Amino acid sequence: MSVRAVIALGGNLGDRQATLDDAVRLLGASDGVTIVALSSYRETVAVRVDGPDIEAPRYLNAIAIIDTALEPAQLHAHLQRIETELGRERHERWGDRTLDLDLIDFDGREFSTPTLTVPHPRAHERLFVLDPWLEIDPQATIPGVGSVANARKVLS
Ligand code: ATP
Ligand code: CA
Ligand code: CA
Repeated sequence: MSVRAVIALGGNLGDRQATLDDAVRLLGASDGVTIVALSSYRETVAVRVDGPDIEAPRYLNAIAIIDTALEPAQLHAHLQRIETELGRERHERWGDRTLDLDLIDFDGREFSTPTLTVPHPRAHERLFVLDPWLEIDPQATIPGVGSVANARKVLS
């Protein structure tokens, strides 16, 4: 049986478009994952721990909706493998990176483990998540938050 999940993709180092293309290809080629929809790639200002930083390399962001037969922890582990394969290094929080893959929503479920919180706790406050998500699913909702369209309005 497969369920619907939402993945946020982003990167602000190297050839960002090629990296996102590769990430989508690897994700789609994974056992138990089918890509249902992919948003356009959008350039956004980097957000640091102390706020937006117009000096930092800009991000390219996108949202992918997938059907998956994987369990959430398996999917998350798989996302981390793709990050590593595409050159992700882990330094400071919200630091520059070639690729970040976040699990935004998994089958409308709400749960938290030491390594995975779903829905992603900061998704509803991020335009770089909400805008591309609405582009491919205008009716999208976030468990515990409500409609993505409403969350988007609150931010503007
Ligand atoms: P943010 O989570 O605010 O977007 P980030 O993506 O820069 O920040 P990372 O360094 O990529 O943060 O990940 C930090 C940790 O977040 C990871 O080790 C991972 O276990 C955990 N994590 C918890 N929930 C999620 C989720 N829904 N998707 C991805 N990672 C998650
Ligand atoms: Ca992130
Ligand atoms: Ca992440």
